This record gives sequence, structure tokens and C-alpha cells, in this order.
Amino acid sequence: MHLENHKDRKEVIGALQGKSITLTRYSKTMGQPYSYSAIPISGNYFNGVLRISLPLAELQNLNSQMFYSVLYAILFCFIITIITAVIFTDILAKPIHEVAKAAQHITEGDYSIKIYTRDKSVVGKLARSFNVMSAKMKENIDTLTRQNAELEAILSSMTAGVVAINDSNEIFVYNKAFIEILNLENKELLGQSIYNVIRSATLFETIDQVRERKKHVEREGTLIKDSLKYIRIAATPLSMEGQHCFGVLLIIEDITKIKKLESIRSDFVSNVTHELKTPLTSIRGFIDTLKAGAIKEEAVANRFLDIIDIEAERLYNLIQDILLLSEIESKREYEMVPCDINQCVSSVIELLSSKANNKVKIIFSPQPLLKPFVCNPDRMKQLLINLLDNAIKYTEEGSITITCWEKDNYLLLGIKDTGIGIGEEHLSRIFERFYRVDKGRSRKMGGTGLGLSIVKHIVELYNGKISVNSKLGAGTEFTISLPYET
Ligand code: ADP
Repeated sequence: MHLENHKDRKEVIGALQGKSITLTRYSKTMGQPYSYSAIPISGNYFNGVLRISLPLAELQNLNSQMFYSVLYAILFCFIITIITAVIFTDILAKPIHEVAKAAQHITEGDYSIKIYTRDKSVVGKLARSFNVMSAKMKENIDTLTRQNAELEAILSSMTAGVVAINDSNEIFVYNKAFIEILNLENKELLGQSIYNVIRSATLFETIDQVRERKKHVEREGTLIKDSLKYIRIAATPLSMEGQHCFGVLLIIEDITKIKKLESIRSDFVSNVTHELKTPLTSIRGFIDTLKAGAIKEEAVANRFLDIIDIEAERLYNLIQDILLLSEIESKREYEMVPCDINQCVSSVIELLSSKANNKVKIIFSPQPLLKPFVCNPDRMKQLLINLLDNAIKYTEEGSITITCWEKDNYLLLGIKDTGIGIGEEHLSRIFERFYRVDKGRSRKMGGTGLGLSIVKHIVELYNGKISVNSKLGAGTEFTISLPYET
């Protein structure tokens, strides 16, 4: 094969001068563009040039092949990177998602949520700390809920009204008894000013005093809208661990009953004193007259002694009735036995029939099948004696009818007379102690004014009821209903 001499080629000339040269030229021999590269080669025994020629089309083809290979490699790497990132992000973010989910549960009040992870990274530590925190929170919330329930139970079982107000006098705690005692409508009182809820000068003064003195204050008074209702207020300043007072706690008790009892008691004492004084004054007066000389006149002396005897008996009866009343009031019942009511009535009639003149007829038909009533027979007799005694005292002519029967597990007793009767205006008061329609008449009859009061107390002792029906001039009827024990 004949090879041309390439010595005159530009790249060869350059390489011979020691330069590395690459050129592109059209090859007339090969009939297409070529790329020529020549580099000088030098050694100990040889100096020359290395020349390489490649068709340009082949070189361009090679270039584009390399380009696509690199592009595919980059794409492949990119996809792998994304997949790896997604997988790793998911693994890393899972505990964070769990924490976020658990936090959401907690905001909704579910403290039982737990995060299960074996992750040892910071996120895993965070999840474990979160578990400890939520467990602690659950414990604290449980304790608070229990304490709250206990406090609520204590408040609602208290018979005294409890209300707490803040510095602006707004209610922030109250109980059921508070609403009941003050007859408040069951509307929401929280946040309301106490001044709009209760109208009581005593209460307002008490609150002012507590704030001023910063110590416990107790007062008694009435309500403005209900002056018959007495309340006792105990007020204490509210402060936390010796800090400044942030409100007032008020404990309100309804003492209306106690006040009424106090006034009944004091009325009773003054009545008793008065009732005792009258016969005593009379006795002393007659004794003085006797001492002054009347004793020498036998007939006068005997008359005075008779009066003294009557007054002494009245005193005795009065003291007996007072003792009886206080005994019944103490509600001590020891001798409870089944009592034959027919027999009881018969023995009382026998006892008192001598008191009735022959113009008054006592009528009683025993009830053969009447169930025995469990009671103290002496009390039952006392009740019948007082009612029959009154009927005899206040009936000059006519009849007294006693009835007893059983209805709906109740023992019913009726004592009806055709006597003087009682005016309507007195009917509601005749059971009061020492109340008499006609004082002079009652006294003349040896009455103490305690008879019906004793009857009422005995009836109440056996959880019964007494009613009266009367018409002036036509007679009176007392009806008693006593429940049989079940
Ligand atoms: P007293 O000792 O005066 O009878 P009571 O308490 O027994 O006292 O009765 C109170 C008043 O009721 C009497 O004073 C009398 O006026 C009236 N009263 C009671 N029972 C009768 C009756 N059967 N008929 C008319 N009045 C009666």
C-alpha cells in the first residue's frame, strides 16, 4: 500500500515544532471532513509525531452517544435519589406524625394516647418524652377531676347555702342549698353580681366588713324581699397562701325556724309566768284576808279556803299540763303497745261521765273489728280525755258522739258535740298554747288553755292530723286521723 507523505500537513508541522494540534479539514482522499490530531513524541532514540485522523461524522456520532449515556446516568441517579429521599423521609417523619396525631388527641381531651416507636433518634426521644408528658397530664387531670367531683359532692350535700364572690362581687361558686334558701330561680348565677341576686342589707354590710377587716364576720338578718325569712351569714375572706384577698366566701343558713321557735319559747315563758301568777295572786290575797281576821268568821273562812283550794288545783293542773306538754315535745316514747281503741274510749267515757250533767248524752258504739293501734295507751287516753272534757265543758245541753273506724290503713277518731261551737275567726288559733276563745269561761271551767295544744302534739307524735269543724251555737266536731304502722 502506498502512503502519502504527511509531513507538510499543518498539524504535523505544529507537532514537529513541539505543539499538540487538532484540526478539522476536508479529506480529498477520503471524500469527507476529518478531524486530525498530532502530538510530538520524543525519546532517547526517537523524535517524531503521532498523528491520528478520524472522520468527523464518526466523532460526532461518538459524542452524541456519550451525551445520551451521561444523560441517562444523571436521570437514573436523580430517580434513585428521589426514591431514597421519599423512603427516608417517610421513615424519619413517621414518629413526628405520630407525635402530631397524639398532640391532636390531647387537645381533644383524650390523654390515654400513646406513641409506640423504637426509633433511637431525637424524634424517637421526643415521642417517648411525649408519652411521659401525656401520662403525667392524664394523672394530673384525673386528680383534678376527682377533686372537683369531691368538692361538688360536698357542696351539694351541704344544707347551708355556699356562695363565693370575686373582687368584682361576681359569683364564681355556689351550691344547690344557696338557690333553695334564697328562693332563686334556677338560672345561671355564675358571673352575676351578688348584689343583683340577693337583696339583703345585712349581707351587703357583711361583705363590706369582711373586705375592710380582712377576717371572718358573722351576722344575722332578713331578706329585703322576704322580711319573714331570717338568715345567718358567715363570711370569710378568700386568699391563697397568705396572698392578698381575692374574694369572699359566704355561708348562708336559713334560721327562720330557729327564730320562730325562739319567739314561741319566749312567748310560752311569759304566758306560763302570767298563768301561774293569776292563781298565786288570788291564793296570796285570800291568805292575807284570812290572816287579817277573816279566819275568825267560820263561814267566810271556809268560803275563802274553798277558793284557795280551787286556785291551788288550777295551779296543779297547769303545772301538770306544762310538764305533759314538755314530755310530749321531747318525743320520747317508751311504752308503745298495740292498744284497743274501743276499750280506751270506753274507759275515758267512764272516767268523765260524772262531769257531764244529765242533760248531756254521751254516745259511743264500739267498732268490733277495729285493728289495735300501736301507741302509748296513756297518751291515747290523754288525747281522748282532753277532747271529751272540752266537749262536756262547752256543751250545756245535747249530745256528744264519739266514733272510731279504720279507713285506708288510718285510724279515724271523731268527737262531735252539740255545744256552743267556735267562731270561725278562732278556729285557726285554738291549737295554740294558752289560746282561749272566752278566757273567763275557760277559767271558770277549770281550763288551762293547754288542752288542745297537748292533743295536737300527741297527734303529731304519731304522724297524724287533726281537723276541726265548728259552727257557733250548733256544735263542734274534731276529727283525728292516725296512720297504722306498716
Ligand atoms: P281550755 O283549757 O281553755 O279548754 P283548750 O286548749 O282545751 O283550752 O281549748 C282552747 C279553746 O278552744 C277553749 O278555751 C275553747 O274556747 C275552745 N274549745 C275547745 N273545745 C271546744 C268545744 N268542744 N266546743 C267549743 N269550744 C271549744
